[in-house]
Amino acid sequence: MPRCLHIHDAGFQCVSEAVDTTELCDDHQKVVPFELLAETGWQKIIFRFVALILLIMFLVPIVYTLRNLFVGPPPRAQEAG
Ligand SMILES: [Zn+2]
Repeated sequence: MPRCLHIHDAGFQCVSEAVDTTELCDDHQKVVPFELLAETGWQKIIFRFVALILLIMFLVPIVYTLRNLFVGPPPRAQEAG
C-alpha cells in the first residue's frame, strides 16, 4: 500500500496508508470533494464570463440599431445619399 499523499499544514506527509483508488488515506478522503468544489467554482466563473461576452455580442448590434433609429444614420451615409 502506498502512503497517503496528503501534506499537513506543518509540512510533513501523512503517515497513513492510502486507499488504492484515491492515493489518500481514509482520514483525508474528504479533502478531495473540497478540491472538486473549488474546480466547480472556477467553472462557474468562466461560464459566467462567457455568458457575459455572449450577452454583450448580442446587445451591441441592438444598441447600434436603436441608435440609428433614434439618432438617424451616421453622417457618412447622409453624404452618400
Ligand atoms: Zn492521510
